[in-house]
Amino acid sequence: MNMLTLLYPGKCMLCRERISEEQRGLCPACRAYMEKSMKELYCPAPGNTDGLICAALYQGRFRRAIVDYKFNGRYAYGKPLAELAMRAWELHHMPKPDVVTCVPISRIHIHGRGFNQSAELARWIAAQWDVPFMETLRRRVLARRQSDLNAEQRWSNARRTFFPYSLADVEGKTVVLVDDIVTTGATVSTCAGILREMGAICVWALAAAKTDNNIVS
Ligand SMILES: [Zn+2]
Repeated sequence: MNMLTLLYPGKCMLCRERISEEQRGLCPACRAYMEKSMKELYCPAPGNTDGLICAALYQGRFRRAIVDYKFNGRYAYGKPLAELAMRAWELHHMPKPDVVTCVPISRIHIHGRGFNQSAELARWIAAQWDVPFMETLRRRVLARRQSDLNAEQRWSNARRTFFPYSLADVEGKTVVLVDDIVTTGATVSTCAGILREMGAICVWALAAAKTDNNIVS
């Protein structure tokens, strides 16, 4: 068993066709489809970010793959999802940042779900880019889940939710903020605003998916 056997799923995460490890989670047809659609995907920049890059819309088989990754224990989908986000980044001719960070989840949620899916994506992206992964933000435990709120509530809830991680140093740095799914953009915008207050000079958001509704900027 080589290392890749531990890293990538044995079936295409979109069509479930059996594939080799070297195909890194997607069959050639699904990869070609994803690459074509990511070139055409326009993502408006949420508020405090310098911009947003996403691999795909949160729909269809891609949505199912993300749900399986987040909630159904298909951890092996994390690397292909991260690599699709990286591919979108590349296709938009974006430079590597100084650091990669992620939207934090609270400790309670980590314990409930077992892992922070955005941190896993961010760590893999940082490793592939050979730049440091840094925890920069914390999330209050009392906050209501963003997924339970409407668009307007998400903004005020997000502002109460996140705060700087005292050991993080992003002064003068360019930062990529990774999230799994961007919905209204409230979360990444709020986090980007805090990162700027912490001294970051540039904050781009990078996500696996975005929902097909308006991002408020
Ligand atoms: Zn496929």
